[in-house]
Amino acid sequence: MGTADVIAMTEKYQMANYARFPVVFVRGEGARLFDAEGREYLDFLGGIAVALLGHTHPEVTRAVTVQARNLLHVSNLFHVPVQAEVGRLLSESTIGGKVFFCNSGTEANEAAIKLTRKWFADRGKEGVHEFVVLEGSFHGRTYGGLSATGQPRLHKGFEPMLPGFVTVPFGDIVALENALTDRTCAFLVEPIQGESGVRMHPPGYLKEAERLCRQNGILLVVDEIQTGLGRTGAMLASERFGLLPDIVTLAKGLANGLPLGAVVAREEVAAAFGTGSHGSTFGGNPVCCAAARVVLETLRSQGFLDEVCRKGELLKNGLSELAERRTDVRKVRGLGLMLAMEMEVETKEIAEQCLRNGLIVNATSGTVLRFLPPLTVNNAEIRHALDLLWASLPAGGRK
Ligand code: PLP
Repeated sequence: MGTADVIAMTEKYQMANYARFPVVFVRGEGARLFDAEGREYLDFLGGIAVALLGHTHPEVTRAVTVQARNLLHVSNLFHVPVQAEVGRLLSESTIGGKVFFCNSGTEANEAAIKLTRKWFADRGKEGVHEFVVLEGSFHGRTYGGLSATGQPRLHKGFEPMLPGFVTVPFGDIVALENALTDRTCAFLVEPIQGESGVRMHPPGYLKEAERLCRQNGILLVVDEIQTGLGRTGAMLASERFGLLPDIVTLAKGLANGLPLGAVVAREEVAAAFGTGSHGSTFGGNPVCCAAARVVLETLRSQGFLDEVCRKGELLKNGLSELAERRTDVRKVRGLGLMLAMEMEVETKEIAEQCLRNGLIVNATSGTVLRFLPPLTVNNAEIRHALDLLWASLPAGGRK
């Protein structure tokens, strides 16, 4: 099937909910992708922060193949060695405590919402069920995740949202404090807002929010679905901001492209999910866990996260130098290999031009270009991406 046939078939038989680029990918290797016509691209989006170790990482491929030969699925009515090991690795690498496995980010947030409410209900506090969330947040597309998402444009047409979510302005600690009532069970927050354009909280905001949670006896639930697992140069972005969450949600790169999500909760909170309280048929699937074991062992290997920090600096400095030679860049921001360049102009066409030039980046929030390359990207690829980006930006914005 040629490119045009694939696109025509997709459009004929699949719902039109995605705005897809007219490119058909058939192969990937590290930070590179190859289309059906044999063209090579540098992937600085990584399947939206998923390909942590790059495409077709040999050890991931090997682990998945071996597991697929042995066992694909048995359900969570039984034990599986690789799932047990990934649970241990996740607990030890994040906040300690216990893990619940699911299949995606939005499911991880659903589980975190249920776990939080159950924790209070177990203490006879059914009335304590309200989540405070932030404007511009993104927590997923199912009703719980979507109700928690502080972006009314995403709610449109799907109302009514679930009750029990209160949205406060971004970066305003007084608004957060004022929103906490005797009905509040948790503050749910992304350490850096990913989908809204790599938005960083004001310095000190998260730490102060954590203090307010402790003071008011409510849980701090941190959505690390995009920021977690090495993306910002630490296992969790929470570490970079000095936070110790009660609950963390993870997904995206956990299994390097296979569907796996997880909730990690500190021991006492995790106990609220007693037998039969929550579940998932596929959650913690053995093949996905085989990939996750390689991901977590690699992230934990000596010097890996330091390298992410160093490469993040290289890319950020490169973007800042490029910005100095232009009149249309407002700001370069982000942490580790989660970076963005905010422009004065719409970025959709720039991302399209990048793609034509062989560089995959993401246009988000109208005027933001977002960069989420594999954590294994190398120096030469970073420099090449910067050259391709420069060549793709409109000539009118050069100084
Ligand atoms: N939370 C955050 C911070 C995300 O960035 C995303 C996806 O972009 C989600 C939740 C939802 O994840 P999923 O698409 O796997 O359901």
